[in-house]
Amino acid sequence: MLPTEGWIDVHAHYTPPDFMELAARKLGQEVSVQQTRDGEVLTRPGQEQRTYQKGELSGSESLEQRIADMDATGAAVQVISPGGTFSFYEQPVDIADYLSAQMNDRLIAAVDEYPDRLMAMVTLPLQDAAASIRELDRVRQHPGVRAIRIGSSIDEIELDDPRLFPFYEAAEAADIPLFIHPYIYAIAGSERMKQFNLSNLVGYPATTTLGAARLIFGGVLERFPRLRFCLAHAGGYLAIASPRLARGFMTRPDTRVILQESPEILVRRFYVDTIAHSATLLDYVRSVFGDDRLVCGTDYPFQIGDADPRRNIGKMAAPDSAKRAALRENALRYLGIAEGASVQAVGQTA
Ligand SMILES: [Zn+2]
Repeated sequence: MLPTEGWIDVHAHYTPPDFMELAARKLGQEVSVQQTRDGEVLTRPGQEQRTYQKGELSGSESLEQRIADMDATGAAVQVISPGGTFSFYEQPVDIADYLSAQMNDRLIAAVDEYPDRLMAMVTLPLQDAAASIRELDRVRQHPGVRAIRIGSSIDEIELDDPRLFPFYEAAEAADIPLFIHPYIYAIAGSERMKQFNLSNLVGYPATTTLGAARLIFGGVLERFPRLRFCLAHAGGYLAIASPRLARGFMTRPDTRVILQESPEILVRRFYVDTIAHSATLLDYVRSVFGDDRLVCGTDYPFQIGDADPRRNIGKMAAPDSAKRAALRENALRYLGIAEGASVQAVGQTA
């Protein structure tokens, strides 16, 4: 059963213990995490090395520790997804298909250990819509699979590319929501962000904003009116960008080639997580997207995240009803789960 109290974390990551080794075997090249004095270095073939703080990759494996951390902050449920590095959009489809399925099976195995506390947000080989739909049909048989994590782009494929439309159609028909997470190997402008971790600090929110803008101007939101989207990291810079997008829509005919409705109205379709690192900003984000759109996220176990969203939610100048909704109700609506329902039973009838 869904715990009757506690908040719901829709943005948390899990690295299955054997997955690095498995990916290395499949890719036939080094995929490794090396421990250094300052942290952890992730190596993947053909991709830039990434550095993490100690324990962020290697330490997120223990489910017991995870549940204890959730208990310490009053989190009822975590929706676990693979970290940003575990999308294989740049690989041949058969490899991406295999690795996505292996990852999803491990997410599901974790959910099976704690079916009342964990749900799975799966990854798909989105460079091929047909393969993605097959994998979605396979994994959504499991009642704990509640959402799909997709990149801010599919490597070089933008989110409004018509090649993705069959996948959007399938997700909408299956009533399963999408979570837009920065795709860390195609951060817009990252060649200018090589120092100071800027590709994360500036690039991640920027690339999420760009992905959201493509969903708006490319007509994806209008074409798939029932599809639910959530944007990572409080929507990147979208709250701040929204009036400018609307201004562009009013003044520039080329923005209206596909789009019918003003971006300022359409942004309210997006759910956004609470990872804003400022109560003032979070309250502004809420005012842009709506009281019913804010959902908790932590980016667990990454230190750049926000381990306890209750702090900033509590400090918002919003009405109590909006705060309560951000802790729980909004996430349940986003995930398509009725309050009081058995999580497992809901999934089985979906
Ligand atoms: Zn994340």
